[in-house]
Amino acid sequence: MTESKKKGLIVRSTGSWYEVRSEEGKVYHGRLKGKFKLKGPQTSNPIAVGDWVMYEMEDEVHQTVLIVEILPRQNYLIRKSVHKTGQGQLLAANIDQAIFIMTFKMPKTSLGFLDRFLVTAEAFRIPVQIVFNKMDLLNEEEQDQVFEWAGLYQSLGYGILFTSIPKEQGIEEFNEMFQGKVSLMSGHSGVGKSSLMNIVAPDLHIKTKEVSDFAEKGVHTTTYSTMWELGKDTYLIDSPGIKELGILEIEKEELAHYFPEMRELLGQCKFNNCMHLSEPGCVVREALEQGDIAESRYFSYLSMLENNDNRR
Ligand code: GDP
Repeated sequence: MTESKKKGLIVRSTGSWYEVRSEEGKVYHGRLKGKFKLKGPQTSNPIAVGDWVMYEMEDEVHQTVLIVEILPRQNYLIRKSVHKTGQGQLLAANIDQAIFIMTFKMPKTSLGFLDRFLVTAEAFRIPVQIVFNKMDLLNEEEQDQVFEWAGLYQSLGYGILFTSIPKEQGIEEFNEMFQGKVSLMSGHSGVGKSSLMNIVAPDLHIKTKEVSDFAEKGVHTTTYSTMWELGKDTYLIDSPGIKELGILEIEKEELAHYFPEMRELLGQCKFNNCMHLSEPGCVVREALEQGDIAESRYFSYLSMLENNDNRR
Protein backbone atom coordinates (compact mmCIF):
# COMPACT_ATOMS: atom_id res chain seq x y z
CA MET A 1 0.00 0.00 0.00
CA THR A 2 2.91 2.40 0.52
CA GLU A 3 3.03 3.38 -3.16
CA SER A 4 -0.59 4.56 -2.91
CA LYS A 5 0.28 7.09 -0.20
CA LYS A 6 0.35 10.66 -1.40
CA LYS A 7 1.33 13.96 0.07
CA GLY A 8 -1.27 16.67 0.60
CA LEU A 9 -1.90 19.97 2.34
CA ILE A 10 -4.75 20.52 4.77
CA VAL A 11 -6.58 23.58 3.44
CA ARG A 12 -9.73 23.41 5.54
CA SER A 13 -10.49 21.96 8.92
CA THR A 14 -13.70 21.72 10.89
CA GLY A 15 -12.23 19.58 13.62
CA SER A 16 -14.05 16.49 12.38
CA TRP A 17 -13.34 16.52 8.65
CA TYR A 18 -10.73 18.11 6.49
CA GLU A 19 -10.06 19.23 2.97
CA VAL A 20 -6.82 17.86 1.62
CA ARG A 21 -5.21 19.46 -1.41
CA SER A 22 -3.12 17.10 -3.47
CA GLU A 23 0.15 18.26 -4.98
CA GLU A 24 -1.66 18.38 -8.33
CA GLY A 25 -4.20 20.81 -6.89
CA LYS A 26 -7.16 18.45 -6.43
CA VAL A 27 -9.12 18.90 -3.22
CA TYR A 28 -10.49 15.84 -1.40
CA HIS A 29 -12.65 15.37 1.66
CA GLY A 30 -10.58 13.58 4.26
CA ARG A 31 -10.75 12.20 7.74
CA LEU A 32 -8.22 10.65 10.05
CA LYS A 33 -7.59 6.95 9.73
CA GLY A 34 -8.27 5.77 13.25
CA LYS A 35 -6.32 7.43 16.00
CA PHE A 36 -2.65 7.78 15.57
CA LYS A 37 -0.14 8.76 18.14
CA LEU A 38 1.21 12.24 17.69
CA LYS A 39 4.41 13.72 18.81
CA GLY A 40 4.31 17.35 19.81
CA PRO A 41 1.77 19.49 21.60
CA GLN A 42 -1.30 18.13 23.33
CA THR A 43 -4.19 19.74 21.55
CA SER A 44 -7.88 19.02 21.33
CA ASN A 45 -7.56 18.68 17.54
CA PRO A 46 -4.67 16.69 16.06
CA ILE A 47 -4.22 18.53 12.77
CA ALA A 48 -4.93 21.98 11.40
CA VAL A 49 -4.77 24.00 8.21
CA GLY A 50 -1.22 24.22 6.96
CA ASP A 51 -0.39 20.68 7.99
CA TRP A 52 1.27 18.51 5.37
CA VAL A 53 -0.05 14.97 5.55
CA MET A 54 0.15 11.61 3.80
CA TYR A 55 -3.18 10.26 2.64
CA GLU A 56 -4.65 7.19 0.98
CA MET A 57 -7.60 7.11 -1.38
CA GLU A 58 -10.65 5.81 0.49
CA ASP A 59 -13.42 6.03 -2.06
CA GLU A 60 -12.65 6.88 -5.69
CA VAL A 61 -16.28 7.59 -6.52
CA HIS A 62 -16.88 10.08 -3.72
CA GLN A 63 -13.29 11.32 -3.83
CA THR A 64 -12.69 10.82 -0.14
CA VAL A 65 -9.34 10.13 1.45
CA LEU A 66 -7.94 8.83 4.70
CA ILE A 67 -5.20 10.79 6.42
CA VAL A 68 -2.61 8.33 7.63
CA GLU A 69 0.33 10.46 8.69
CA ILE A 70 1.17 14.03 9.69
CA LEU A 71 4.51 15.33 8.48
CA PRO A 72 6.82 17.26 10.80
CA ARG A 73 5.86 20.91 11.34
CA GLN A 74 8.06 23.98 10.94
CA ASN A 75 5.90 25.77 13.53
CA TYR A 76 2.32 25.91 14.74
CA LEU A 77 -0.08 28.21 16.45
CA ILE A 78 -2.12 27.17 19.45
CA ARG A 79 -4.93 28.99 21.16
CA LYS A 80 -5.09 28.23 24.80
CA SER A 81 -8.22 26.44 25.87
CA VAL A 82 -10.71 28.76 27.49
CA HIS A 83 -12.00 25.81 29.49
CA LYS A 84 -8.72 25.24 31.31
CA THR A 85 -8.71 21.63 30.27
CA GLY A 86 -5.00 22.05 29.75
CA GLN A 87 -5.44 21.25 26.09
CA GLY A 88 -5.04 24.05 23.63
CA GLN A 89 -6.57 24.26 20.21
CA LEU A 90 -4.30 23.93 17.21
CA LEU A 91 -5.16 26.79 14.85
CA ALA A 92 -2.66 26.43 12.02
CA ALA A 93 0.68 24.88 11.14
CA ASN A 94 3.67 25.74 8.96
CA ILE A 95 3.08 29.48 8.92
CA ASP A 96 5.72 31.37 6.93
CA GLN A 97 4.82 34.79 8.24
CA ALA A 98 2.41 36.86 10.27
CA ILE A 99 1.46 40.19 8.72
CA PHE A 100 0.52 42.71 11.38
CA ILE A 101 -1.42 45.69 10.08
CA MET A 102 -1.33 48.78 12.28
CA THR A 103 -2.29 52.44 12.07
CA PHE A 104 -0.95 55.47 13.91
CA LYS A 105 -4.45 56.89 14.11
CA MET A 106 -8.04 56.02 13.22
CA PRO A 107 -7.69 53.70 15.05
CA LYS A 108 -4.51 54.12 17.06
CA THR A 109 -2.54 50.92 17.50
CA SER A 110 -0.47 51.09 20.66
CA LEU A 111 3.10 49.86 20.77
CA GLY A 112 2.04 47.72 23.72
CA PHE A 113 -0.45 45.88 21.54
CA LEU A 114 2.18 45.44 18.82
CA ASP A 115 4.73 44.18 21.34
CA ARG A 116 2.31 41.57 22.70
CA PHE A 117 1.69 40.35 19.19
CA LEU A 118 5.42 40.18 18.50
CA VAL A 119 6.10 38.24 21.70
CA THR A 120 3.42 35.71 20.80
CA ALA A 121 4.84 35.35 17.29
CA GLU A 122 8.36 34.94 18.70
CA ALA A 123 7.12 32.26 21.07
CA PHE A 124 5.65 30.33 18.13
CA ARG A 125 8.65 31.12 15.92
CA ILE A 126 6.61 32.95 13.29
CA PRO A 127 8.42 35.75 11.42
CA VAL A 128 6.49 39.06 11.42
CA GLN A 129 6.03 41.79 8.83
CA ILE A 130 4.68 45.05 10.23
CA VAL A 131 2.55 47.12 7.85
CA PHE A 132 1.85 50.74 8.76
CA ASN A 133 -1.37 51.52 6.89
CA LYS A 134 -3.29 54.79 6.37
CA MET A 135 -0.05 56.74 5.94
CA ASP A 136 -2.09 59.34 4.01
CA LEU A 137 -3.75 60.46 7.26
CA LEU A 138 -0.51 61.59 8.89
CA ASN A 139 1.04 65.04 9.00
CA GLU A 140 4.80 65.38 8.81
CA GLU A 141 5.34 65.18 12.53
CA GLU A 142 3.22 62.05 12.83
CA GLN A 143 5.01 60.51 9.88
CA ASP A 144 8.35 61.13 11.56
CA GLN A 145 7.07 59.37 14.67
CA VAL A 146 6.01 56.36 12.58
CA PHE A 147 9.39 56.30 10.82
CA GLU A 148 11.10 56.29 14.21
CA TRP A 149 9.00 53.34 15.37
CA ALA A 150 9.64 51.57 12.10
CA GLY A 151 13.40 52.06 12.53
CA LEU A 152 13.23 50.49 15.97
CA TYR A 153 11.31 47.42 14.81
CA GLN A 154 13.43 47.01 11.71
CA SER A 155 16.54 46.98 13.88
CA LEU A 156 14.93 44.14 15.86
CA GLY A 157 14.60 42.08 12.70
CA TYR A 158 10.97 42.65 11.72
CA GLY A 159 9.95 43.49 8.16
CA ILE A 160 8.44 46.96 7.63
CA LEU A 161 6.11 48.36 5.00
CA PHE A 162 4.26 51.69 4.73
CA THR A 163 0.95 51.65 2.88
CA SER A 164 -1.88 53.95 1.92
CA ILE A 165 -4.79 52.86 -0.19
CA PRO A 166 -5.86 56.31 -1.47
CA LYS A 167 -2.26 57.19 -2.33
CA GLU A 168 -1.57 53.71 -3.72
CA GLN A 169 1.54 53.63 -1.57
CA GLY A 170 3.19 50.27 -0.94
CA ILE A 171 0.35 48.27 -2.49
CA GLU A 172 2.54 46.43 -4.97
CA GLU A 173 4.99 45.54 -2.22
CA PHE A 174 2.09 44.43 -0.03
CA ASN A 175 1.00 42.08 -2.79
CA GLU A 176 4.54 40.76 -3.26
CA MET A 177 4.85 40.09 0.46
CA PHE A 178 2.35 37.23 0.15
CA GLN A 179 3.81 35.50 -2.90
CA GLY A 180 4.95 31.90 -2.38
CA LYS A 181 4.16 32.03 1.34
CA VAL A 182 1.63 30.88 3.90
CA SER A 183 0.58 34.01 5.79
CA LEU A 184 -1.74 35.02 8.52
CA MET A 185 -2.93 38.56 8.98
CA SER A 186 -3.78 40.33 12.21
CA GLY A 187 -4.40 43.79 13.60
CA HIS A 188 -7.11 45.84 15.29
CA SER A 189 -10.48 46.17 13.68
CA GLY A 190 -10.61 49.15 11.31
CA VAL A 191 -6.91 49.29 10.39
CA GLY A 192 -7.69 48.28 6.80
CA LYS A 193 -7.15 44.52 6.67
CA SER A 194 -10.13 43.78 4.44
CA SER A 195 -9.52 46.83 2.25
CA LEU A 196 -5.90 45.79 1.63
CA MET A 197 -6.89 42.17 0.98
CA ASN A 198 -9.58 43.31 -1.47
CA ILE A 199 -6.87 44.87 -3.57
CA VAL A 200 -4.58 41.83 -3.42
CA ALA A 201 -7.32 39.22 -3.84
CA PRO A 202 -10.49 40.87 -5.13
CA ASP A 203 -12.60 37.69 -5.15
CA LEU A 204 -11.61 36.63 -1.64
CA HIS A 205 -14.37 38.46 0.21
CA ILE A 206 -16.99 36.51 -1.75
CA LYS A 207 -15.47 33.19 -0.70
CA THR A 208 -15.02 34.41 2.86
CA LYS A 209 -18.65 35.44 3.00
CA GLU A 210 -19.77 31.99 1.84
CA VAL A 211 -17.87 30.42 4.68
CA SER A 212 -19.07 32.80 7.35
CA ASP A 213 -22.68 32.34 6.17
CA PHE A 214 -22.12 28.62 6.36
CA ALA A 215 -20.41 28.85 9.72
CA GLU A 216 -23.23 30.94 11.17
CA LYS A 217 -25.64 28.17 10.33
CA GLY A 218 -23.37 25.42 11.55
CA VAL A 219 -22.03 24.50 14.92
CA HIS A 220 -18.37 24.54 14.00
CA THR A 221 -17.81 28.26 14.25
CA THR A 222 -14.96 28.02 16.72
CA THR A 223 -13.01 25.29 15.01
CA TYR A 224 -13.57 26.11 11.37
CA SER A 225 -10.29 27.17 9.74
CA THR A 226 -9.46 27.72 6.10
CA MET A 227 -6.43 28.50 4.00
CA TRP A 228 -7.33 30.62 0.99
CA GLU A 229 -5.25 29.94 -2.08
CA LEU A 230 -4.27 33.36 -3.45
CA GLY A 231 -1.88 32.07 -6.08
CA LYS A 232 0.74 29.40 -6.63
CA ASP A 233 2.02 28.26 -3.22
CA THR A 234 0.42 31.40 -1.78
CA TYR A 235 -2.09 31.08 1.02
CA LEU A 236 -3.82 33.22 3.59
CA ILE A 237 -4.85 31.50 6.80
CA ASP A 238 -8.32 32.40 7.98
CA SER A 239 -9.21 31.15 11.41
CA PRO A 240 -11.53 32.60 14.03
CA GLY A 241 -8.80 32.15 16.62
CA ILE A 242 -6.25 34.30 14.81
CA LYS A 243 -7.97 37.46 16.02
CA GLU A 244 -7.13 36.39 19.53
CA LEU A 245 -3.49 35.81 18.81
CA GLY A 246 -1.87 37.06 21.97
CA ILE A 247 -3.72 34.70 24.25
CA LEU A 248 -0.87 32.68 25.49
CA GLU A 249 0.56 32.05 28.86
CA ILE A 250 4.26 32.64 28.91
CA GLU A 251 6.25 31.82 32.01
CA LYS A 252 7.64 35.00 33.56
CA GLU A 253 11.13 33.55 33.43
CA GLU A 254 10.80 32.95 29.69
CA LEU A 255 9.43 36.32 28.68
CA ALA A 256 12.78 38.05 27.97
CA HIS A 257 13.61 35.31 25.44
CA TYR A 258 10.88 36.65 23.19
CA PHE A 259 12.31 40.18 23.09
CA PRO A 260 15.14 39.82 20.52
CA GLU A 261 17.14 42.71 22.00
CA MET A 262 17.03 41.10 25.46
CA ARG A 263 17.49 37.57 24.21
CA GLU A 264 20.98 38.34 22.99
CA LEU A 265 21.99 39.57 26.44
CA LEU A 266 20.60 36.68 28.46
CA GLY A 267 23.11 34.79 30.50
CA GLN A 268 25.27 37.88 30.97
CA CYS A 269 23.50 39.26 34.05
CA LYS A 270 25.15 38.78 37.44
CA PHE A 271 22.34 36.50 38.61
CA ASN A 272 21.26 33.78 36.26
CA ASN A 273 17.67 34.06 37.48
CA CYS A 274 17.69 37.83 36.87
CA MET A 275 14.26 39.19 35.92
CA HIS A 276 15.80 42.49 34.75
CA LEU A 277 13.91 44.56 37.30
CA SER A 278 16.27 46.10 39.85
CA GLU A 279 18.80 43.35 40.43
CA PRO A 280 22.44 44.45 40.61
CA GLY A 281 24.64 43.61 37.64
CA CYS A 282 21.73 43.40 35.19
CA VAL A 283 22.93 43.89 31.61
CA VAL A 284 19.41 44.47 30.32
CA ARG A 285 18.96 47.49 32.62
CA GLU A 286 22.42 48.66 31.59
CA ALA A 287 21.48 48.44 27.90
CA LEU A 288 18.27 50.35 28.69
CA GLU A 289 20.20 53.12 30.42
CA GLN A 290 22.59 53.37 27.47
CA GLY A 291 19.67 53.63 25.07
CA ASP A 292 20.40 50.28 23.42
CA ILE A 293 17.00 48.98 24.48
CA ALA A 294 14.04 51.25 23.73
CA GLU A 295 12.09 52.47 26.74
CA SER A 296 8.80 51.53 25.10
CA ARG A 297 9.99 47.96 24.66
CA TYR A 298 11.18 47.68 28.24
CA PHE A 299 7.87 49.15 29.37
CA SER A 300 6.03 46.46 27.38
CA TYR A 301 8.22 43.83 29.00
CA LEU A 302 7.30 45.15 32.46
CA SER A 303 3.61 45.34 31.70
CA MET A 304 3.60 41.80 30.31
CA LEU A 305 5.44 40.57 33.40
CA GLU A 306 2.91 42.19 35.68
CA ASN A 307 -0.01 40.98 33.69
CA ASN A 308 1.27 37.50 33.07
CA ASP A 309 -1.98 36.43 31.59
CA ASN A 310 -1.34 38.03 28.21
CA ARG A 311 -4.91 38.62 27.31
CA ARG A 312 -6.18 41.75 25.59
P1 GDP B 1 -10.48 45.99 8.96
O1 GDP B 1 -11.48 46.04 10.08
O2 GDP B 1 -9.09 45.92 9.48
O3 GDP B 1 -10.77 44.95 7.94
O4 GDP B 1 -10.57 47.44 8.23
P2 GDP B 1 -11.34 47.85 6.88
O5 GDP B 1 -10.64 47.31 5.69
O6 GDP B 1 -12.78 47.57 7.03
O7 GDP B 1 -11.09 49.44 6.86
C1 GDP B 1 -11.65 50.33 7.80
C2 GDP B 1 -11.80 51.71 7.17
O8 GDP B 1 -10.52 52.26 6.87
C3 GDP B 1 -12.56 51.68 5.85
O9 GDP B 1 -13.45 52.79 5.84
C4 GDP B 1 -11.48 51.84 4.79
O10 GDP B 1 -11.95 52.47 3.63
C5 GDP B 1 -10.47 52.71 5.53
N1 GDP B 1 -9.09 52.55 5.02
C6 GDP B 1 -8.43 51.40 4.77
N2 GDP B 1 -7.18 51.65 4.34
C7 GDP B 1 -7.03 52.99 4.33
C8 GDP B 1 -5.95 53.88 4.00
O11 GDP B 1 -4.84 53.48 3.61
N3 GDP B 1 -6.19 55.23 4.16
C9 GDP B 1 -7.36 55.72 4.58
N4 GDP B 1 -7.50 57.05 4.69
N5 GDP B 1 -8.41 54.90 4.90
C10 GDP B 1 -8.25 53.57 4.77
